[in-house]
Amino acid sequence: MNKPHISCYIGLGSNLDNPTEQIQCSLKAITSIPATNLIAQSSLYRSPPLCPPTQPDYINAVVEVNTGLTAHQLLTHLQLIEKARGRTRTTARFGPRTIDLDLLLYDNLTINTPKLIVPHPGLSSRNFVLYPLAEIAPDLRLPSGTPLKDLLAHCSATGLEIIK
Ligand code: AMP
Repeated sequence: MNKPHISCYIGLGSNLDNPTEQIQCSLKAITSIPATNLIAQSSLYRSPPLCPPTQPDYINAVVEVNTGLTAHQLLTHLQLIEKARGRTRTTARFGPRTIDLDLLLYDNLTINTPKLIVPHPGLSSRNFVLYPLAEIAPDLRLPSGTPLKDLLAHCSATGLEIIK
């Protein structure tokens, strides 16, 4: 297995079963992924649900890791963590979830396969991704060359609150 050398960003979100604890346990699990080191961790944010609006608020965070895994291997480990924390894939898209782990960025690569799209399609428009990401990587550029700061300038922080 390769030594951890590829910089990746992972988004975490939870709105069920003590979301703050779900995020903290998932962070710990991420540190146990093989050939992967935690580099930086954002604050925890509270955000209102996208839809349906009747579900509980979300807690979100973003972490940077260095990994020696391929993007698909890393996704597999993230999905194992989701499964271990009780996430079932039968819930409706955007519905409540114990833990959602998204591979936001993998090195400077663009990936488009049936299982994995990187940059994550929601990255550019979701304030609960962009603001925590900017906290740990303010000068980041997407593989397209777009500076993160430009995306932030067009994304309101309304409803987003740092909780710890
Ligand atoms: P979701 O229900 O939003 O967690 O979506 C999970 C599905 O999205 C899984 O089937 C993944 O294979 C797929 N997927 C595609 N791209 C990504 C990505 N960048 N990060 C996480 N899941 C992804």
